[in-house]
Amino acid sequence: MSLHVVDHPLLHDIMTRLRDRTTTSEDFRALAYRASLFLVGEATRDLPTVAGTVATPLESTAVRRLAVRVVAVPVLRAGIGMLQAFLDLVPGAQVGYFGLERDEDTALARRYYEKVPAELGAALVFLLDPMLATGGSAAMAVDGLKARGARAVRLVSIVAAPEGVERLTAEAPDTEIYTAALDRGLDDRKYILPGLGDFGDRLYGT
Ligand code: URA
Repeated sequence: MSLHVVDHPLLHDIMTRLRDRTTTSEDFRALAYRASLFLVGEATRDLPTVAGTVATPLESTAVRRLAVRVVAVPVLRAGIGMLQAFLDLVPGAQVGYFGLERDEDTALARRYYEKVPAELGAALVFLLDPMLATGGSAAMAVDGLKARGARAVRLVSIVAAPEGVERLTAEAPDTEIYTAALDRGLDDRKYILPGLGDFGDRLYGT
């Protein structure tokens, strides 16, 4: 497992506004999109490319083209807030979905929906889940993706808690985690502190 905490002044500024309780849902959505652009950019930094050529209006030049099948899997519902940024950067990506719901009393994840492209073995799979809290839902999603043939999975999260990082390290040690912030820990309701509250509620105004 390796944890990549993306450090960029523009991303810090976005995080400040995402955390701010007075940020409206409209602004929160735009900020989540912008934070995701940074994280996806970093998580895809080493994707394989092949050499080719292209004709500019003036001459032919050497170029590199993406040479891997990419699959993005947002975890419903909050992960949807990261999907457009992913697709804007990797327009050819396929998209799968995991519907995972957290029981508010036990904080345990329950899978209620799964639709993922076939034969993940040949693809690089990016799980989009903005809040890595207990790690329960991320571990369940990684497990589900591996059951469908995925090799190592990359998790893109906006905020991570040490508890979630530890759990994923224990249960899926080959997962790479990309996040904008490693926060202090979880409260007794398993929300991340200081965090930014319930990501899905803030995204959708519920
Ligand atoms: N999910 C959220 O949306 N926020 C948290 O703090 C933890 C899990």
